[in-house]
Parts: sequence; structure tokens; C-alpha cells
Amino acid sequence: MKTIALFGGTFDPIHQGHVQSAIELKQQLSLDELRLVPCHLPPHRVTPGCTSQQRLAMVKLAIANTGLMVDDCELRRNQLSYSIDTLASLRSQLGQQVSLSWVMGTDAFAGFDRWHRWQDFLALGHLVVIKRPGEKLPEAGAVAELIMQYQADRADVLHQQAAGSIVFVSLTPYPVSATDIRATLSGQQNSAKLKDSMATAVLDYIQTHRLYGYQA
Ligand code: ATP
Repeated sequence: MKTIALFGGTFDPIHQGHVQSAIELKQQLSLDELRLVPCHLPPHRVTPGCTSQQRLAMVKLAIANTGLMVDDCELRRNQLSYSIDTLASLRSQLGQQVSLSWVMGTDAFAGFDRWHRWQDFLALGHLVVIKRPGEKLPEAGAVAELIMQYQADRADVLHQQAAGSIVFVSLTPYPVSATDIRATLSGQQNSAKLKDSMATAVLDYIQTHRLYGYQA
């Protein structure tokens, strides 16, 4: 069965934590496609630090020659970006014979029961959760119950079924966050660390467009 995974995020800006995790995930799970899906109008957080088109441009620069793909479908729908709408629209485009997965980190998954129509996700796709050291999964509540009911024993399920399971994966940790990067960019400090945290082409783009108050 063809396997496609969607890694959604604000990518404000995209960093090596996103890119390296996506590359490793694609390889570890032998996925046919891994698509980064930049969010246009995030319902659950403050307005991003730059425009959707700029965040999309940075995603394109960051994934050049990586084998990853970008899907700009949320930018083309000019409304609040609910992941469930993206998943539903891809499912209707691709039919029932393709395995679709929605990828997220444990931090995002811990609040999954606050996502719009979260109960509809597993009918349309799998959930792939990237485990990061130090982050605990909920032990009680709706997300804990979801794990108990739908956690797969083996990641192979992604190749055998189109939807319906939760798969946890452990990847090499990249302890970097867009919040820290924005703080570093605006504070003009520790720019050596920035070079390790993001693709050179992305940092150049940020500098050229004077995003996040950064001037090298
Ligand atoms: P912010 O700090 O602004 O919240 P972020 O760095 O967490 O941003 P997002 O765009 O919000 O980035 O994250 C998109 C997805 O990437 C989420 O599912 C998140 O869990 C995951 N993610 C974020 N940082 C990392 C990282 N360092 N390694 C692996 N996954 C990550």
C-alpha cells in the first residue's frame, strides 16, 4: 500500500528539528512520501512572526535535495487551518487504498483532544507521534484512552492499513524549537548556534527579508 505522511506545523521558522526528524522518520518507516504541511491560519496559537508565503518559501529552501515534499494545500484554502480538513481533503482525493498518516511531536499530541474534530482523525488516517526525550505522554484523560485503544504494536500497520492506528517512533533528538530560534534572531545573540539549528539557505532568507528582527 502506498504510504504518505503529513507533517503539519507553523514552521515559524522551519528548523533542523523538523527537517532531520522528517528525513529520519521517512527512512525509518519506509514511507513513500513525507509532506511538510505549513499551516496558513493557525487556530490555536498567536499569529506567526511572518507571512504564510514566507514560511512556505523557507520550508521549500529547507527541504531542497532531501527527498521530502511540501504540500501548500492549507495556504490555498483561505480559512482557519484545521488539520482534519487537510486530512479529509487528501483522503477524498487519494481514495481508500492509500495509507495516510498525520505526524506530530509528543508535545502537540498531549493536547490532541483539543484539536478540532479530533475524534474523526483515525477514521481518515493514522497518527504518528515522534517521541522526544523528557516529554511524557498523558497517563489519564482522553488522549491516554485513545492511546490504549489504538496504539499499534508494530509500525508495519502503516503499510497494511489505510488508517486507524497510533504509531510512536523514537528518533534522534534535535533539541531546538522555533520559539528559541525567534528569540535568538531578535536578540542578535549566539548566532553560531543558529547555523547549527537551521539550513543556511533559510538563515540567508531570514536575513535578506529581515524577518524576526534579525540582522546578521
Ligand atoms: P514553536 O516553538 O513556535 O511552538 P516548534 O519548533 O515546536 O515551534 P511547530 O511548527 O510548532 O515548531 O511544530 C510542528 C511540528 O514539529 C509539531 O508536531 C512539533 O511537535 C514538531 N517539532 C517541533 N520541534 C521539533 C523537534 N526539535 N524535533 C522533532 N519534532 C519537532
